[in-house]
Amino acid sequence: RFSKSMGQNFLIQAWVPEDIAAASGAGPGTGVLEVGPGIGPLTRQLARRADKVVSVELDRALLPILKETLADCPNAEIVPGDILKTDIPALVGEKFAGLTAVACANLPYNITTPAITALIEAGCFASITVMIQREVARRICARPGTGDYGAFSVFCQYHTDPELLFDVPPDCFIPAPKVTSSVLRMVPRKPPEEVDDPEHFFRVVRAAFAQRRKTLVNGLYAAFGQQLTKEQLANILTGCGLPADVRGERLGIPEFAGISRKIRQTQG
Ligand code: SAM
Repeated sequence: RFSKSMGQNFLIQAWVPEDIAAASGAGPGTGVLEVGPGIGPLTRQLARRADKVVSVELDRALLPILKETLADCPNAEIVPGDILKTDIPALVGEKFAGLTAVACANLPYNITTPAITALIEAGCFASITVMIQREVARRICARPGTGDYGAFSVFCQYHTDPELLFDVPPDCFIPAPKVTSSVLRMVPRKPPEEVDDPEHFFRVVRAAFAQRRKTLVNGLYAAFGQQLTKEQLANILTGCGLPADVRGERLGIPEFAGISRKIRQTQG
């Protein structure tokens, strides 16, 4: 009955959708985009608070059940489809004219990273509140120098201020997932001033984390070796005040921005 490939773990404890909806900023004047309503427990809680809820659900078999559970929620609308193939800004523009848009979801865990990326890149939400695997939530919030820190931490922290809100144990779901879940809220922020070329900045970040066990200079060489020698890259690092054998996982957004700028200057 439950589809593993669609990441279906349905909430069975009333406090969980209540607390997620309360944390999501859903309220008068807001429109909520929900991903994966399932059989609708979170949808109902969101619809109690917001002016409008639009929920994108991939599994068409759930549509008749949703119609029933949401019969008394006239401000909730189901849009059948795949969130990863949805033009999110267009949907939000069409459905939430005059409202502040927020996103909220108990995400299917097999699409956690691409779904969060799509919600962030949509650029149209005042906040994004999601329940995800605790391990991924920790990665998103991780600070430089910790084991959880990586390219996805930098991506999320570049675009948003993420905050871990509370944990939800496996027995709150059917079927119970193997891991503990966490509710995370991300509030979009002004992009960091130090970054003057985001595309290049993210090339540097990806290079830094592509091979975790390598020093940064080797990671950069794998990505920029066509244009720059290893010696030039080492000089760029020392020119930024960093040890030549520094590892990428120690560096924050300002350091990656400085390295990206110096690489572009050196390339001319
Ligand atoms: N919100 C419900 C709850 O809390 O009980 C269900 C959450 S369940 C973890 C994830 C839901 O997302 C399922 O209903 C699943 O069918 C749906 N889903 C999976 N992949 C999806 C996709 N790519 N786009 C939209 N919905 C998807």
